Parts: sequence; C-alpha cells; structure tokens
Amino acid sequence: MLNADPLELAKFSELAHRWWDPDSEFRPLHQINPLRLDWIDGHARLAGKRALDVGCGGGILSDSMARRGASVLGIDLATKPLRVAQLHAMEAGTTSVEYREVAAEALAAESPAGFDVVTCMEMLEHVPEPASIVRACATLVKPGGWVFFSTINRNAKAFLMAIVGAEHVLELLPKGTHEYARFIRPSELAQWCRDAGLDLVDARGLEYNPITRRYRLSADTSVNYLVACRKLP
Ligand code: SAH
Repeated sequence: MLNADPLELAKFSELAHRWWDPDSEFRPLHQINPLRLDWIDGHARLAGKRALDVGCGGGILSDSMARRGASVLGIDLATKPLRVAQLHAMEAGTTSVEYREVAAEALAAESPAGFDVVTCMEMLEHVPEPASIVRACATLVKPGGWVFFSTINRNAKAFLMAIVGAEHVLELLPKGTHEYARFIRPSELAQWCRDAGLDLVDARGLEYNPITRRYRLSADTSVNYLVACRKLP
C-alpha cells in the first residue's frame, strides 16, 4: 500500500497550474525558498552534488537547487504538479533537473545511497506515515550525506498561527491546507531521524511577520521549522 493520502494529492493537483505564480496559493513557498535554499546550500554545498527533492510539487526548491549547481531529481506522487515542474524546467532552461512520479519508499529500494543530499520540505505533514518517509530519505542518502526536513510543530501556538492565522485570518493559504493532527513536534521528528540512523545537527524556526509580510529564519521552532541531519557513516 502506498504511503500517501489521495485527498492530499488531489488538493495539490487541483492548484498545480498556479504553482509558479508568486501571488497565488503558493506565495509562501516562493517567499521562503531563498531562505531555505541558502540554509541548505550553506550546510551541504550543493554545487556538483546529486540531490533528491522528495515531495517536490511544482519544483520551486528542486529548480533552485539545480541553479546552484546540483544535479537534481524531484519526486512526488501528484501528477499535475510534476507536469508543471517539468514544463517550468523547459521554459526556464534548467537542464540539471529531472522529475519522476515515484514513492520515496520505492526509490529507496531502487537507489539506496544514491544521493549526496535529500530534501523533504513541507511534505511530512501531508503523509499518513511520515516516519516511513524519514526512513526512506535515510536510505536514499549516502553515508555522511545531508538530509533536510521542514514541517509544522504541533501545539496551541502552531494551531493559532498555521491554521487560524494563515488560513482564516490572513488567508495566506487555502482553508483546509493543513490538518492540526498531522503536525509534528520536533521531538517526534528527531526520534524518527535517530531511529533511521540520521544525526540531527541543526534546527531553525521559520517565522512570519504579518506586519512586514516577510519570513525569516530564527531560533524559534514553535510553529514552522526546518532540521538538518547527517547520515551516520
Ligand atoms: N516540497 C515542495 C512542495 C510542498 S507542497 C516545496 O516545499 O516547495 C507538498 C507536496 O507534497 C505536494 O506536491 C504533494 O503532492 C506532495 N505529497 C503529499 N503526499 C505525498 C507523498 N505521500 N509522496 C510524495 N509526495 C507527496
């Protein structure tokens, strides 16, 4: 059985044609991308590396990693976002990026230790069994390689900011984008990483300021956050 929720995949497929519109539902992803890209590049030094982007959607991060000199494979299980990603690569002339519709677990069986860098951003909170994705990412990365995750914390503040604030008050995201019960505490993610042989080396919060309408990386992981891990040799 596929570790995916068909309703989630349908939701992303339905919006896919607007993925590269920076003023669409995907505005937050466009806004956070330079921040996460610099952070990932600072740790993993993307130039010349083989990178995998799990749950790549329309390819915002995949494309930008390729532009930093990595050779990138983006995978997802939603068909339309992948088509949009492919089309964007053609239009933008990004040659070192490829896209494939394949589950992380299936690719892990096919290419263990196949990548220097694995990213899995804003995706774990849409999946029935996120720990299985973490294990697959750990299998896909080479020993000593880097794995990056980002997701949303589960607590009262995260509920207020990420669901009430972002979906209902500020309308940054469509209503129903996120389900509170699927949010993930950093301690839970850290445990899944350890169990998969990943050493957690850095964590950052991603804070949104509704006045300036800007994001920044911070030490506050109470709502949106990112973690960087290394696969133990
Ligand atoms: N990682 C991208 C897109 C985030 S949106 C970025 O941060 O820019 C979440 C993506 O996860 C969507 O494209 C959705 O189709 C994908 N997704 C959801 N469940 C998935 C699964 N089980 N396997 C692979 N991709 C999945």
